Amino acid sequence: MLPDSRRTPDVRFWVFDPSGKWISRWCRHFAALEIPHLRSPAVHHPDPDPYALRRFAESRPHELFPPYDLPGTQLFQDFCSDLIRRWELEGSVVKAKVTRIEPISGAKGCRFRLWLEDGQSAIARRVVLATGGGVPQLPVWVSQIQPPYPQERLCHSDRVDLRGLQLSGERVLIVGGGLTGGHLAVGALTRGAKVMLMARRQLQEKLFDADPGWLGPKYLKGFWAETDWERRWELIGTARNGGSLTPAILTQLRRHTHSGQLAILPECQVLSAQWLGNRWRVICSDGAERECDRIWLATGTRLDVTAEPLLADILEAYPAQIVKGLPVLDEHLRWPGCEAFLTGPLAALQVGPVARNLSGARMASERIAPALHKPSLAPTPGQRPLLVPLSG
Ligand SMILES: Cc1cc2nc3c(=O)[nH]c(=O)nc-3n(C[C@H](O)[C@H](O)[C@H](O)COP(=O)(O)OP(=O)(O)OC[C@H]3O[C@@H](n4cnc5c(N)ncnc54)[C@H](O)[C@@H]3O)c2cc1C
Repeated sequence: MLPDSRRTPDVRFWVFDPSGKWISRWCRHFAALEIPHLRSPAVHHPDPDPYALRRFAESRPHELFPPYDLPGTQLFQDFCSDLIRRWELEGSVVKAKVTRIEPISGAKGCRFRLWLEDGQSAIARRVVLATGGGVPQLPVWVSQIQPPYPQERLCHSDRVDLRGLQLSGERVLIVGGGLTGGHLAVGALTRGAKVMLMARRQLQEKLFDADPGWLGPKYLKGFWAETDWERRWELIGTARNGGSLTPAILTQLRRHTHSGQLAILPECQVLSAQWLGNRWRVICSDGAERECDRIWLATGTRLDVTAEPLLADILEAYPAQIVKGLPVLDEHLRWPGCEAFLTGPLAALQVGPVARNLSGARMASERIAPALHKPSLAPTPGQRPLLVPLSG
């Protein structure tokens, strides 16, 4: 039985998440990678008031880290718990995985049937898809490895959990020179492993993953003035310019290279890997053959809206223009022709290069929320049940 939907003054909504909790994936990522603080400054968080986190931290100033008051992991999570309590959102997440979103057209316009993993379904007039977006990006050589090999000896960073890992005496190869690779390297080194950190190019040092100019009109004005979607996609790529490491993590890594525990291998790629029964043999683009006990792929995610199973039926019923894997949405981040909204990296053609970050989530909510509340902005009449099914 689905519980009663939540009611705010003018809307009713459900949130579906397999964990049954708010920000579960966020907490899991930060714990699994032992990340001490956020990369983004204290103004970025889910509360509508940008200064709310700063006020919350007044009694805990030592949990704001230099150089720009980066919130500590525990501080941020406590703040979110407080926000959930203040906005009376406890208990509003239904523990359920959505497996399919089926558009249904009828006399009252389009609605959606959301199919849940346990076979139940729910009907909604509007859907906001906030699943995080993207599937793990795996290098080609991974699919060419002759099985069998132990799965835990080669995995994407999404599946690595540093907690409880004993790595003393092991050699770990980490592929990917972004911040996730950096966190994994520090975690493996502190557990006594010898680490090779391999990157396609020289390691990039940056405080933030995109220039703060992308948070406001400085760069976004030009971005929104661009009418060519492919050009927008290029602007996003240039602004993010691949993975980068913060100065703090890079300093820690350099310290470990001096002790000989860490080898940084820039401008290098794996060509092939072979499981030898108890270790990996890896052939690399620099001509070297290396051996290691584990390989972790900190290779990020691939964005392709056509590979998002929850959008398959919507895509079929309401064909949309897709540019390099990203859909062209309207200004309210609405899928053309129906009342499905996207937030996260798949909304980047409208939101810009920070779409995948907390700041992007705020920009997305500022665009989506008015379309949920104001009938004049909605193509279909009425304001009956609003269903916000998926959210961290
Ligand atoms: C390691 C790491 C560190 C980061 N640090 C920062 C930072 O310092 N600052 C910053 O701005 N951003 C940071 N980010 C980015 C940040 O995680 C995102 O901006 C934020 O989590 C986006 O929230 P979201 O709710 O859109 O997606 P997510 O947090 O990814 O949540 C998506 C939710 O959807 C649920 N879901 C997925 N599929 C289904 C389904 N079929 N049915 C039901 N539910 C489903 C998942 O269980 C999950 O809980 C970081 C990301 C990572 C991975």
